[in-house]
Amino acid sequence: MKRIFHFHEGSATMSDLLGGKGANLAEMTQLGLPVPPGFTITTESCIDYLKRPASFHDTLKPQIIEALQQLEATTGKSFDQDGPVLLVSVRSGAAISMPGMMDTILNLGLNDQRVLSLAQQTSVSFAFECYRRLMQLFGDVVYHIDKQRFDSCCDQLCAQFGKSLEQLSIAEHQQIITAYQKVMYSYGDVFPQDPYEQVDTAIQAVFKSWHNPRAKIYRELHNIPENLGTAVNVQAMVFGNGNEQSGTGVAFTRNPATGENALFGEFLRNAQGEDVVAGLRTPQPLAALAESMPDAYHDFEKYSTILERHYRDMQDIEFTIENGELFILQTRQGKRTAKAALKIACDLVDSGLINEREALMRVSPDMIGQLLHPVFEQKALDRATPLAKGLPASPGAATGQVVFTAEQAKQVHGQGKAVILVRQETSPEDIEGMIISEAIVTSRGGMTSHAAVVARGMGTCCVTGCETLTVNEQAQTITCGDHTLTLGDQISVDGTSGMVYIGDIPTVPAENDENLLRILDWADKHAQLKVRANAETVHDIQTAIQFGASGIGLSRTEHMFFGEERLLEMRRLILAEDDNDINDALKRLLHFQEEDFYQMFQAAQERPLVIRLLDPPMHEFLPHEAKEIAHVAKQLNKDVATVTKQIQRLQETNPMLGHRGCRLSITEPRIYQMQVTAIFNSAIRCAQEGLNVLPEVMIPLIAEKKELTIVKQSLRETIQQVFAAHHLTPFPYEIGTMIELPRACLIADQLALEADFFSFGTNDLTQMTFGFSRDDIGKFINHYQEQQILTSDPFQHLDQEGVGALIRLAVEKGRQTKPHLTIGICGEVGGDPQSIPFLQSTGIDYVSCSPYRIPAARLAVAQAAIQMGNQATKQHVR
Ligand code: PEP
Ligand code: MG
Repeated sequence: MKRIFHFHEGSATMSDLLGGKGANLAEMTQLGLPVPPGFTITTESCIDYLKRPASFHDTLKPQIIEALQQLEATTGKSFDQDGPVLLVSVRSGAAISMPGMMDTILNLGLNDQRVLSLAQQTSVSFAFECYRRLMQLFGDVVYHIDKQRFDSCCDQLCAQFGKSLEQLSIAEHQQIITAYQKVMYSYGDVFPQDPYEQVDTAIQAVFKSWHNPRAKIYRELHNIPENLGTAVNVQAMVFGNGNEQSGTGVAFTRNPATGENALFGEFLRNAQGEDVVAGLRTPQPLAALAESMPDAYHDFEKYSTILERHYRDMQDIEFTIENGELFILQTRQGKRTAKAALKIACDLVDSGLINEREALMRVSPDMIGQLLHPVFEQKALDRATPLAKGLPASPGAATGQVVFTAEQAKQVHGQGKAVILVRQETSPEDIEGMIISEAIVTSRGGMTSHAAVVARGMGTCCVTGCETLTVNEQAQTITCGDHTLTLGDQISVDGTSGMVYIGDIPTVPAENDENLLRILDWADKHAQLKVRANAETVHDIQTAIQFGASGIGLSRTEHMFFGEERLLEMRRLILAEDDNDINDALKRLLHFQEEDFYQMFQAAQERPLVIRLLDPPMHEFLPHEAKEIAHVAKQLNKDVATVTKQIQRLQETNPMLGHRGCRLSITEPRIYQMQVTAIFNSAIRCAQEGLNVLPEVMIPLIAEKKELTIVKQSLRETIQQVFAAHHLTPFPYEIGTMIELPRACLIADQLALEADFFSFGTNDLTQMTFGFSRDDIGKFINHYQEQQILTSDPFQHLDQEGVGALIRLAVEKGRQTKPHLTIGICGEVGGDPQSIPFLQSTGIDYVSCSPYRIPAARLAVAQAAIQMGNQATKQHVR
């Protein structure tokens, strides 16, 4: 099996095998860009190695030797003792980008002798800097020795010599190298002098870094499969740290925060790439390069245009300049904020580089959520006390308590408090703390430092390079001018402006972005499924419509009884002792409901509005604590013992499976009758005012056709009476059913004969299919996921095999008896982008979700339609 591909042998389409970095290095080499030569070891080799380490020596090693020899021939340099010194880097590179999560070793090929040859060919201080860096990285990655151990040796010896590194003699440099070797000995390790052995060891260490804890956490967070493995790139080194005519940088072909179409990047003179990424020195903006090395800058402009046009997307490019000569070390699709993603997608459509469908596939539904992040309330912001200003690395606004370490973040977050992680700079070890922080602030680093890249990826608000902020991680203080804050103090962070403030600032939801509106318009054009909202208050209905809901798929009427006055009337009804009391309570509730429905119809205008009749068991409306029971008894003029007895009588062992849903109407039809009376009185009022509404009434928890027949008959009679009371002939309306029970799915053909529409309540359907209580799953779902019994929480992402199969069956059966039956989904998974492609494949008409999930769902349904179209085209071509 071919395990190694030289850069001139691969292409961008081979990222599964060569990793994203390797595939792009190959593609750039083919395009004729100045890429230092090298080769890529395949992801398959990594998988084999992790399963059977001996495979390295049996199969891979001979191919590595051959590839290194070819590299020597191409570069005219070698690993031999004499002649130009070849040094190589060994870098990880998975098929899906995992920035900074796995390992890299630079400057491989140096040893005690060859460093002297390199010193002759370059300079003493440069050659020894390379050697020290190699030993430190090798010690860290291969032997897991803290990098700090090497740094302190170096600092101590320099202090002892009374010189800076640049002033040291060869003998003094050698003493530092010996000290580094001693550090390794103290751990029982030896630094290999043979360059080939160095490379072999480094490659195996990079393979193993696939399994390091931070990489695992990153994969979990981004749903990257565990079994992909990483490719390894072995590449001839070029040096940005040899002199002032050298340097290194990272640049985006467009601004990754705003999407503006202009080169955006950072550059560090006389430095190596790791210095930029690690945020150890704060780089200069790219414009500084245009001034100091105009030729290299112009070359860079030229190549970045070629790369963007070739890949038809914004690129994130790493480059190095060695003695004024530009080399491109990496290109990849640039990570970007949601705002930038939308702008870039729209601009690329406008420039004709991509079409609308491609633009829709370029934005992830999760990103849309980021755009809806809150911003600070302007008035409060005007009064806020600024602490410091840094770089606006990732947008959003957040407040929380200052913490200094990932550990503290976890602890304080565990107490239910919002935290903001403040550090000099972050490193991959901080990932767990970063995930749970509301915002991240660093005093060092630029727009491409670790904190910035990771926070943008996670959609977390972040400010980097806050240079005026002194972060003392040991003393646990942050100081800026006269202000000193400490652990637990409250700060507010604006990731869009780069400002950090003292104290709490209230937030307001974000406004719509005009590119978002454009993208969502395109989405609606390409979508097959409609997106409705789950909403019952006027405010939520209006928000949902603003977000583009095509109607309301679920109004849960029980939510309307939670106001203080209404609750009292509901309790009066439940605790009624005779018919008079019941009728009295119903009359009062009718009054409230009529106004509610009227307002809802007005808010929804003529869009569909599905109103679900009362669902929960009655005891949910009753108090449980003695004090409250006494209070209710007093309010209703009853004695405490009677109320207590009634509450006990209504208690259920298994309320989710108890007296709820349509069962309430079977035993006491008057509640549903009151609700439809209210619905139709308000609908008639709207019609008389010129608003033509189509009431859609939905009955919950149907398991058997006869339940539906009986409840429906009772509702129809009531509706007729309402119209008669208004001296009107009935206008069209619909009565449908929720499908929430496995039995309902199995007899969906029968139910469709009675129902005008179906709506799947996947919350209950999941509960009833698995037998997992939706309120108690938190106690065990983590164990299910850890033991890989389930890959995710089925209430969050649809269980396609079980619950999904029931949905598919019910859709098929329902349409057998009623071919044009309208079918929707109104459980939580209706708004889950991951579940939407499957839901579409079942043939339903719409999904319905909470208002803030609507924009993402609109995009997700368009993507599902485009994907389905693409698959159909592929099949057709086959
Ligand atoms: C459902 O069961 O999925 C549903 C939408 O109803 P509820 O969550 O109110 O039970
Ligand atoms: Mg339900």
